Amino acid sequence: MSVNAPSSAVQTGPSTGDATGAEPIQTDSVIIGAGPVGLFQVFELGLLEIKAHVVDSLPRIGGQCMELYPDKPIYDIPAVPVCSGRELTESLLKQIEPFHATFHLGQTVSSLQRQDDGRFLVETSRATRFLTRTVIIAAGVGAFEPRRLRIDGIAAFENAQLFYRVRDPADFAGKRLLIAGGGDSALDWALNFAREDARSASDLILLHRRQDFRAAPASVARMRELAGAGRLRLLTGQITGLEEAGGRLLAVQVTGLDDAVARVPLDALLVFFGLSPRLGPIAEWGLELERRAIAVDTEKFETNVPGVFAVGDINIYPGKKKLILSGFHEAALAAFGAARYVFPNKPIHLQYTTTSTKVHRILGVDSPPRGAAAA
Ligand code: FAD
Repeated sequence: MSVNAPSSAVQTGPSTGDATGAEPIQTDSVIIGAGPVGLFQVFELGLLEIKAHVVDSLPRIGGQCMELYPDKPIYDIPAVPVCSGRELTESLLKQIEPFHATFHLGQTVSSLQRQDDGRFLVETSRATRFLTRTVIIAAGVGAFEPRRLRIDGIAAFENAQLFYRVRDPADFAGKRLLIAGGGDSALDWALNFAREDARSASDLILLHRRQDFRAAPASVARMRELAGAGRLRLLTGQITGLEEAGGRLLAVQVTGLDDAVARVPLDALLVFFGLSPRLGPIAEWGLELERRAIAVDTEKFETNVPGVFAVGDINIYPGKKKLILSGFHEAALAAFGAARYVFPNKPIHLQYTTTSTKVHRILGVDSPPRGAAAA
C-alpha cells in the first residue's frame, strides 16, 4: 500500500454503499488519524485480533511526517538510525499489511455518540458512519485544514472560483488561473498546469509574497525555466482586494513589493498557504481537555469516556513528550485497554512476536521449528 496511491483497502470517500445509508459499518475499533501513531495502533490492535478502520481528514496517509517533513531525516526511532518521514510512513504501512485495515481518507470525524448498547456511533464529514466498540483518537495536533485567504468577500467564492485543493485538474483546463503560494503544493500544481497539453490553463500566473520559495529547489528551477519560456507568469506580491460582478469573481488586486497595485483578471484562484491544525469537533465530545490536548491515564491511555482512548500528540499526562516513540508505547497499552471492551470475557495475555505461534498465525508468517530459538 502506498501513502499516495490508494489501494483497495484505502477509501477516499464512504467506503461501502451501506456506510452512508441506514446501516453503519460495524467494527471493533475506529482510529481517528492516520499519522505514525494511528498506523502503529493498527498493528498493536491487530496483534490482539482487533479489527480497525482508520479515518483521516487528509487525502494521504502519514500525518505530520508526510505533511510537514516527508524528506527530512528522523534520528530517534528505536533501532532505525535514520529514516525520512516518508520512509517511516512506508515502513509502518508495510508492517500493518497483515491486518488489512480500511482507510477512509479526506474525511474528518465530526461526531461521536454513545449508543444504548454501549457502542459508539462515529460519523465523518462525508457521512461515513461506524458502529464501534472502541474509539482510538490519534489525531495529533488536530485536523489539518488549509490556511485561508483573508480578504473581505472572498469566502463567497469558495468552491466556485476559489479553491484550496485540486479535486479534478480538468476543472482548471483552458482557464485563466492564478495560483497563490510558494511551497511544494503551489509549485507542483503550477508545473502541472503549465504543461503543453489540453489540460493546461489558458493563462497561468504564480503569485508569491516573496522572491524566495519554500518548495523543492528542482521545482523552483523548473518553474523559472517555464516562466522564461512564457508558459507561466511569475508575480511577487499579495492579494489585497477583489473585483466582482453579478456574483462572479472577475479579478483580484495584487499589491507588489513596491506597493504598486495591479489588477489580475482570472477565472479561478488556487490558494496554497499551507495547512494549520484545528482540534475541531473533538473538543465537543465531552472529553476532558487540558491545554488543547486530551487527558488520559497512563495505564491504558483511556480518556474520561470509557472505551475512548487517546494516543500520540493529541494526549496529555504528567511527563508527556510529543515524540513518535512515546506514541508507539501508548498505542501498545491502549490496545490492551481496548481488548477489554472487544473481548470482555477473554483473558488477554502478552505474547512475544518472536515465539508465539498464535501471533505468527495472525501475522501470516511461518513459525520457526520448535527448539530453533534455543539453538
Ligand atoms: P499526527 O502525525 O499529527 O497525525 C494525526 C492525524 O490525525 C493527521 O493526519 C490529521 O489529519 C488527523 N486528524 C486529526 N483530527 C482528525 C479528525 N477529527 N478526523 C480525521 N482525522 C483527523 N518526532 C520525533 O519523535 N522525532 C523527530 O525527529 C521529529 N521531528 C519532527 C519534525 C517536525 C518538523 C515536526 C513538525 C514534528 C516532528 N516530530 C518528531 C513530531 C512527530 O511528527 C509527532 O510526534 C508525530 O507526528 C505524532 O504522530 P500522531 O500520529 O500522534 O499525529
